[in-house]
Amino acid sequence: MAHTLDLSVKSAAPALVNLTGLTRDGLMQALVESGVVEPRKAKMRATQIWRWMHHYGFTDFDLMTDIGKEQRALFKEKFTLARPEIIERQVSNDGTRKYLIRMAPGIEVESVYIPSVGRAGALCVSSQVGCTLNCTFCHTGTQKLVRNLTAAEIIAQVQIARDDLGEWPSPSEDRQLSNIVFMGMGEPLYNLDNVSDAIDIISDNEGIAISRRRITVSTSGVAPELQALGNRTQAMLAISLHATNDDLRDEIVPLNKKYNIEQLMDAIRNYPGISNARRVTFEYVMLKGVNDTPAEARALIRLLKGIPAKINLIPFNPWPGTDYQCSSWSAIETFAAILNKAGYASPIRTPRGRDILAACGQLKSESEKKRASVVRREQREEAASIQDNLPAGESLPFAHLAGGMID
Ligand code: SAH
Ligand code: SF4
Repeated sequence: MAHTLDLSVKSAAPALVNLTGLTRDGLMQALVESGVVEPRKAKMRATQIWRWMHHYGFTDFDLMTDIGKEQRALFKEKFTLARPEIIERQVSNDGTRKYLIRMAPGIEVESVYIPSVGRAGALCVSSQVGCTLNCTFCHTGTQKLVRNLTAAEIIAQVQIARDDLGEWPSPSEDRQLSNIVFMGMGEPLYNLDNVSDAIDIISDNEGIAISRRRITVSTSGVAPELQALGNRTQAMLAISLHATNDDLRDEIVPLNKKYNIEQLMDAIRNYPGISNARRVTFEYVMLKGVNDTPAEARALIRLLKGIPAKINLIPFNPWPGTDYQCSSWSAIETFAAILNKAGYASPIRTPRGRDILAACGQLKSESEKKRASVVRREQREEAASIQDNLPAGESLPFAHLAGGMID
């Protein structure tokens, strides 16, 4: 897509291919093309390596005991299984864990693990560094640096959370990490090839084995890509709606000027696999005086008529420099009560990770210039002062990920 700019650093030495981002077919092909594995043995070797990487979480070829020593040495010359560097790990009082990961020089992303969301706990992953879409209430949209993450970089976020939670080999029950949500930095549908490969890898039964039903992709509404998303990933769909008429949505989600609400709703109705058992989640950020009246709650119900839907009301997370405020608690409750009456259960999200500014994608663009640690200290101070000035119960970093929005 022409929307993204690849700023990856090119180095003189050829980079080793990271096998963790390859689908099964891609892995077989890479093994054969490397000349190390004969075509007739490719499937067997790929299956062995797959299990070591994705079931056991190994990063070292030497631990792969069913592969001969000489072949392991050749693999090391051509391939890598290495994780990227974790620059910072923060744990909130409520158990939320935030990781700041350096994928490459200048390419830093956040991912966040939230306990007690979904079946056991959800990991919010990023799909891009920054975002080209500039929704007016979103901090990620203000970040300048944009490139798509590779499938390996998306998988690395899952592996790092699993490393930290001690969940290798991949447990078949009692998992802490049960759900994946693409709700971190970036627009996943502008990186569909890599998101789709990553979902194939995450959902594979002989590896990380998180079912497609527990993987949710959130989009701001790239209507023409919804069909492909459903066909290629069978993931659960979340739509960042935030407004019920085109005038307002044009303003706060500028992509609406390209694909308006009617086009978006049509595409959603045709989303593959949609049913009462597989409902679409509609995200709706509560912005004081912007989109939070009872009339808008009623308009939302009219708009969703006939679509198997759940609604996720998100208290706005303030960030330094924003003019928006979170709706008052009573406005949110009134809005929610109208939805409840129409049959949409408990849609308000509870706050998570507030003490560590765990809202996805809140790295400031200045982090390109300043030392990241200084930026983060400033962010924490500013976040604390924003939180201190809010009425009780309002404005909650990471609200968009918490509490029951995913089954
Ligand atoms: N780009 C995708 C996914 C990432 S954003 C999308 O827009 O859907 C994940 C969710 O967080 C979206 O619903 C987004 O609208 C919401 N969001 C972004 N900034 C927010 C903020 N400051 N407060 C509350 N929700 C926010
Ligand atoms: Fe991008 Fe989503 Fe933020 Fe909009 S809300 S700027 S699409 S990350």
